[in-house]
Amino acid sequence: MATPKAIPTDGLGRPLGVLRLSLTARCNLACPYCLPDGQEPPGLLTLEQRHAVVQAAVALGAHSLRLTGGEPLLHSQLESLIETVQPLRAQGLRDIALTSNGTLLSANRARALREAGLDRLTLSLDGADGASVARMAGLSDAKAGERTLEAVLAAIGHARDAGFDPAAGALKLNAVIQRGLNDDQLLPLAELCRGQGLELRLIEYMDVGNRNGWNPADVVSAGAMVEHISSRWPLEPLERDLHSTARRWRHRDGTGGIAVVASVSQPFCGDCNRLRVTADGVAYTCLFAAPSSGLDLKPWLQPSSNAMDLEQALTQLWRSRHDRYSEERQASTAGREHAEMAYLGG
Ligand code: SAM
Ligand code: SF4
Repeated sequence: MATPKAIPTDGLGRPLGVLRLSLTARCNLACPYCLPDGQEPPGLLTLEQRHAVVQAAVALGAHSLRLTGGEPLLHSQLESLIETVQPLRAQGLRDIALTSNGTLLSANRARALREAGLDRLTLSLDGADGASVARMAGLSDAKAGERTLEAVLAAIGHARDAGFDPAAGALKLNAVIQRGLNDDQLLPLAELCRGQGLELRLIEYMDVGNRNGWNPADVVSAGAMVEHISSRWPLEPLERDLHSTARRWRHRDGTGGIAVVASVSQPFCGDCNRLRVTADGVAYTCLFAAPSSGLDLKPWLQPSSNAMDLEQALTQLWRSRHDRYSEERQASTAGREHAEMAYLGG
């Protein structure tokens, strides 16, 4: 009988659980808090190389794959990649999820993603009116914001029709909240999600990248967001799932709930189990990593490469991981460079 493989833990005893794979650094929106590049980095991975990365991560214990970007729906091989990793379910892959701004999600695309084997979809929308959406998505005016809002609302319908059931946690909505820009959208977004039966995931505005001019004063804390929504529709806390980025709350009236991602005010580095790989094959062990700390995996992704060597390179990277940036943010990070959000994949 084959000896089971030793699953590595990092320098703080954390196992690898989630691979966040970015498919593109490009986006069709330009949210000012993210500010993606207009073009891809050189050396984008091929479908085969991406499959090899997922396979290696699963061999090291990753049970969840999240596909992201940039805007992953811009990537023509998205469905092919989802199809090619299906056999890895037999090796421990349990969950394949996608984060998207939803604007390009037609009914056909939603069906194709479901048929390819996508389990869960999270769409991002930062406002419930045209002006707010325009402000948060970097669009020219409220009319453009309205068109985007309509596209995302249609995408929610397409996703539901394709079988992504919000009641089963297969369809959720992300919103980043920035003080003075869209904090007035908390109740409208909560109302929209209650009406649609969607979990609203409120994300604290984070200091990812170097372009967004992040200022702690612009962060609305998760506590303040929960309090505000609870004053209108009372909430009660649910147990936090181990390794989860979000703390979940349910409405006392039984109409769904919200989740908050409190990376700034209540960091969750202690059980962070996420590995990130960029569209050009650079591995990062923290969302707030310095650009120079990434490990380029391409030397282990050549036609002549051996899968075991890639696993070994990732094992070494994971074993040497000590990241806990969010917990150290206040103490030691002045002037620190971060890789950009759309490049890292959120
Ligand atoms: N384009 C897709 C989307 O917007 O859903 C996927 C990539 S995007 C980088 C992934 C998530 O990161 C989105 O929900 C987005 O709102 C969030 N995000 C981007 N920049 C952020 C920031 N500075 N602080 C908090 N969340 C951010
Ligand atoms: Fe694009 Fe997503 Fe970044 Fe907005 S958050 S610019 S939709 S990648």
